[in-house]
Amino acid sequence: LVSRKKHPDNTVVDLKGVMMGDGTQRLVMGPCAVESYEQVFTVAKALKERGIRLLRGGAFKPRTSPYDFQGLGVEGLQILKKVADELDMVVISEIVNPSDLDLALEYLDVIQIGARNMHNFELLKAAGALDKPVLLKRGLSATIAEFIHAAEYVVSKGNNNLMLCERGIRTYETATRNTLDISAVPILKQETHLPVLVDVTHSTGRRDLLLPTAKAALAIGADAVMAEVHPDPAVALSDSAQQMDIPQFNKFIDDLQASGLYKG
Ligand code: PEP
Ligand code: MN
Repeated sequence: LVSRKKHPDNTVVDLKGVMMGDGTQRLVMGPCAVESYEQVFTVAKALKERGIRLLRGGAFKPRTSPYDFQGLGVEGLQILKKVADELDMVVISEIVNPSDLDLALEYLDVIQIGARNMHNFELLKAAGALDKPVLLKRGLSATIAEFIHAAEYVVSKGNNNLMLCERGIRTYETATRNTLDISAVPILKQETHLPVLVDVTHSTGRRDLLLPTAKAALAIGADAVMAEVHPDPAVALSDSAQQMDIPQFNKFIDDLQASGLYKG
């Protein structure tokens, strides 16, 4: 069902009026994790001022260590919804447990399925049965073929509003957190009709690489770039090393616009 051979036309996903996959390249930004109302509002206001409505933020955080901040849970979703209602934003947040999908229906505009859950077929099927757009991230060690099969799990349950996100894969390289597989973008666009995003924050794990990799993603035809922004990354409860602060975010947008690659 996701194959371009069977469905030659691009799927365009309507996110509360923001089209994904219509040829306009977009940005999805926001903090790694929801930490407080003030934190999310500060970031969302900065995004809004630069014309960005797609707001990300994790409420359920799949952390490597069980002793690290696990997210605010439902309270985090409530904060996202409140800010979205106030500033007319579109909220994207990860759900890790199928039993929490009903919360997504109540609070979210897009259900994110994270890299660690790309192979969680029960979660994929349950999200596929809902009437809510899904953003599926590539698994840490998943081949493109496995990624496409995971996408098929969602769409086969009836949910056509699916977007794919390349977020780096695990290789022997240690200079970056993961290795951004930039060629996955044209391959996924050739093989499927779904919108394809590139997450530059989790693929690189390095703030100094966000701009060059975002440019590469736009140049190679990604439908959107995802990157993280936090009012004060030094005290962020997760991904402190690679989130941009607000001035860095504004410079990131200025530089992308100056490059001619980002038209927003
Ligand atoms: C995220 O986007 O918040 C995240 C945890 O990313 P990934 O699943 O790609 O690691
Ligand atoms: Mn993060």
